[in-house]
Amino acid sequence: MSSNAAEDANKKGVSKVAAKGASTTTVVGSDTDKQDHKLSEKQCREFASTVLEWFEVHGRKHLPWQQNPTPYRVWVSEIMLQQTQVTTVIPYFERFMQRYEHVGALAAASQDDVLSLWTGLGYYARGRNLHKAAQLIVQDHHGELPPDLDSLVKLPGIGRSTAGAILSLGFGQSAPILDGNVKRVLCRYCCVDGWPGQTAVERRLWDLTTAVTPIKHTAKFNQAMMDLGATLCTRTRPACERCPLNQQCLARQSGVATKWPHKKPKKDKPTRQTLMLLAINDDGSVLLQRRPSSGLWGGLWSFPQFDDLDSLQEYATTLGRYRPTDVEQWDHVQHSFTHFDLRITPVRIALKLTARDRIMDASEGCWVDGELPGGCAAPVKRLLDKLTHTLL
Ligand code: SF4
Repeated sequence: MSSNAAEDANKKGVSKVAAKGASTTTVVGSDTDKQDHKLSEKQCREFASTVLEWFEVHGRKHLPWQQNPTPYRVWVSEIMLQQTQVTTVIPYFERFMQRYEHVGALAAASQDDVLSLWTGLGYYARGRNLHKAAQLIVQDHHGELPPDLDSLVKLPGIGRSTAGAILSLGFGQSAPILDGNVKRVLCRYCCVDGWPGQTAVERRLWDLTTAVTPIKHTAKFNQAMMDLGATLCTRTRPACERCPLNQQCLARQSGVATKWPHKKPKKDKPTRQTLMLLAINDDGSVLLQRRPSSGLWGGLWSFPQFDDLDSLQEYATTLGRYRPTDVEQWDHVQHSFTHFDLRITPVRIALKLTARDRIMDASEGCWVDGELPGGCAAPVKRLLDKLTHTLL
């Protein structure tokens, strides 16, 4: 499950846990899951103080979103950091903040503009949701992020963990988080069995993070947990010898820390096929179409796509004249999505257009020569670069 999907799934349990609050300190495993290691109140307090002490010396304190951490800056950084490394996010975050200094500026931008700044960061639904949420914040919350969990999780793309980060890091409130890093640390520390995407396991992890999160210094604690997961308790090579939790960590004691978190049960991914028409006209411009605003690569610009070569060529004839020798089929390109792989067959066709042919309904597409009209998915951008290269 992508973190977006996981966050959405999480929204269902929000009210119940919000009512429970962050002051709970005894961890009781949910009655449906297997009982793993439980923590007493004292152990929870010790866990928090150990993590906070470690943060003072080793935590990251100079990331761009940690400077002037307004709720807006925290929100944007949290969305960008989903499924993405800090080093990749930094330049995107800085460009984004330069262009959209506040929620109102983001809300007023066009989707093309937002997605074009997002190009290369992947998981474009995040960018679309960020934009949509900014518009709702202007419409319903006077342009300021709401300072409560229930209102935050109603906004597109904000799940319970992101809301917890906004509340703690941006508003200074006490709210737990449960991003991928925190899940990994807790799964290992208590040897929580099962895949964290399963409801019962996730519920257990929320119980744990709620119990160990202190009421005071929550922002530092949450940042520390993310840092610990990102820098020490890494996915494949946890540095247990340097970890402040290593004395009590059950996974460490087991000798195979990487056994946790358990992996998602494997399912074979299907492969879908598509042909992309790389239509290039005699002045060197290339035809791009904007995809429907929801669904795969929603709102991004792409080459026209077809199920078979006949329909691709039939469409090309509506654009201009070409000879059979002007058609060139390139090697397949494979792109992996969460639930399937996409096998793309690029077909380049050099067209001779008449003036009349060049007039095209703006909703259908546009001929691009140089600057892109908006965001592009990574494989489309790579094909565009290759196409441009063939013209040099
Ligand atoms: S001791 Fe090792 S496995 Fe346990 S939390 Fe620390 S780094 Fe992770």
